[in-house]
Amino acid sequence: MRLQRYRHRCRSCQTEYFLPWADLSFFYGTFLGVTRRGEVAVLDSFSDPVFDEVSMLVSNYLGPQETYERGVVVRQVISAISDKDPHGEPFVLDGLPGCPECGKKRTAAPKFTGEEWMADVPPLSHEQWDNWPFLQRAQTVKALLAEMGLKEPP
Ligand SMILES: [Zn+2]
Repeated sequence: MRLQRYRHRCRSCQTEYFLPWADLSFFYGTFLGVTRRGEVAVLDSFSDPVFDEVSMLVSNYLGPQETYERGVVVRQVISAISDKDPHGEPFVLDGLPGCPECGKKRTAAPKFTGEEWMADVPPLSHEQWDNWPFLQRAQTVKALLAEMGLKEPP
């Protein structure tokens, strides 16, 4: 996967920082996870069973009639249950991971630097999740949906 190097400037603390980005428009079902330290991992929703399982749990809890961006919610849940990067930061699968200094997400329009971002892109790992029994997975998803304000607290 080819990554491009983008320059960001935080609107809150003015820190300039760089993050990778990939054009995945021809890779349907593939999502790049980026942490605010610039670590990357990829989620292939067709080959990784975590995607179908989380999708099923989200659908069970929220029902079919809800008017929300289901795909966004599923990716936010997967981000939350996946293993963190070596700095303890989550891999964000939707939108920007935030400023490495202050964590705020408001950034001036990112600018492509013209450079490639050199990094291997391993699959997004979720060892902790894999070791949980199903009930714990289900309860965790339910609690995350409540945190997002999408579900009554358990
Ligand atoms: Zn900042």
